[in-house]
Amino acid sequence: MVTDAYRPLSLADALIFLAEQDCLPVAGGTDLMVQAARGTGVRPNFEKTLLFIAHLQELQHIHVTDTGILIGAAATLTALLEHEGIPAVFKEILKQMAAAPTRHMATLAGNIVNASPAGDTLPYLYALDAELVLRSRDRERILPVADFIRGPKQTVREKDELLTEIRIPAEEFNIQRYRKLGQRKGMSLTKVSFLGLARKKAGRIEDIRIALGSVAPRIVRSRNIEERMLGKSLTEARTMEPLVRKDYAVLIVPIDDARSTAQYRKQVSLRLIRDFIENLK
Ligand SMILES: Cc1cc2nc3c(=O)[nH]c(=O)nc-3n(C[C@H](O)[C@H](O)[C@H](O)COP(=O)(O)OP(=O)(O)OC[C@H]3O[C@@H](n4cnc5c(N)ncnc54)[C@H](O)[C@@H]3O)c2cc1C
Repeated sequence: MVTDAYRPLSLADALIFLAEQDCLPVAGGTDLMVQAARGTGVRPNFEKTLLFIAHLQELQHIHVTDTGILIGAAATLTALLEHEGIPAVFKEILKQMAAAPTRHMATLAGNIVNASPAGDTLPYLYALDAELVLRSRDRERILPVADFIRGPKQTVREKDELLTEIRIPAEEFNIQRYRKLGQRKGMSLTKVSFLGLARKKAGRIEDIRIALGSVAPRIVRSRNIEERMLGKSLTEARTMEPLVRKDYAVLIVPIDDARSTAQYRKQVSLRLIRDFIENLK
């Protein structure tokens, strides 16, 4: 049962509180409330003191610069969707998450720290090599998102740390494909998500990134496989496709759950990879 909740006046205040007490940061609360729910009319059950952070001014920013995008941990999905500097493919992903009322509350930071393999923003953040700023009262560290998430619901966040900022490097891609497969078009949890990004120059692949969600304990992205396609002509890439797909098949190890079967997830993922590479034009 909840005993305490704390609403700090500033980020510094929040970090002091976190250094002194083992508590649970609450941003939009859209994951936490579901996890703690105990049925209609029954108060949700939290084992720790809650630390509200959604209102903190220091965490609201969205800055777009020449080198990348800096997103404060309290920036909501709606704020990102409304910001003109957010890339179209990222907006396409955000638009397919939940419904508007949830997006008004939910944060990008919450989606990351929740560390679900089905977290819809994660394939994009992995593909772009996003970095996370973690702050505690006495220190700051910056980690690639892929090093932050250790497995489903597991991160390397220390108890006294807050994720304060997400940094997404500026990259240009002229081929972009995103697919989210769910039970229905909107408001559904992901069975499989696929993001393919590529930069083609003079008929050759200058950069390529492929990331998949919901098909393994962590987001699937392989730099080794991507690197093998760099510098290849589009015809060469298409010729390589069956071998590339075979290598991804080893990394794609989905589970059966209420949303889908492992077999369906694997088949669909491999088809999405094939279609992306075959249609690189
Ligand atoms: C109806 C509904 C539909 C949904 N649809 C989708 C969907 O389509 N796709 C999808 O990916 N998700 C979906 N979600 C899940 C959820 O909305 C997202 O994961 C959202 O981004 C979580 O953000 P939040 O701010 O609400 O996180 P919270 O619930 O506040 O927090 C989530 C976790 O992160 C921690 N945390 C939050 N911020 C910080 C921080 N700054 N530093 C340290 N720890 C922090 C919290 O302690 C908690 O462990 C849905 C949820 C609901 C209720």
